[in-house]
Amino acid sequence: MPRNTPSPRVCHDCDGFASAAITTGTRNPDGTRTTLAVDCRACHGTGTTAPAAALIRTGR
Ligand SMILES: [Zn+2]
Repeated sequence: MPRNTPSPRVCHDCDGFASAAITTGTRNPDGTRTTLAVDCRACHGTGTTAPAAALIRTGR
């Protein structure tokens, strides 16, 4: 049963890390690093997948 994950259905796109802070490499005037917060496009930042019914419909 490969895709039968336990109760909290973690998004398989981001493994639950729905928001990632990406360092751009530049620095702000105050010396802190500039980061971009990116939400997972699959789960829209929730970290969980769609309800099981949706997975059943796709045949996975
Ligand atoms: Zn996700």
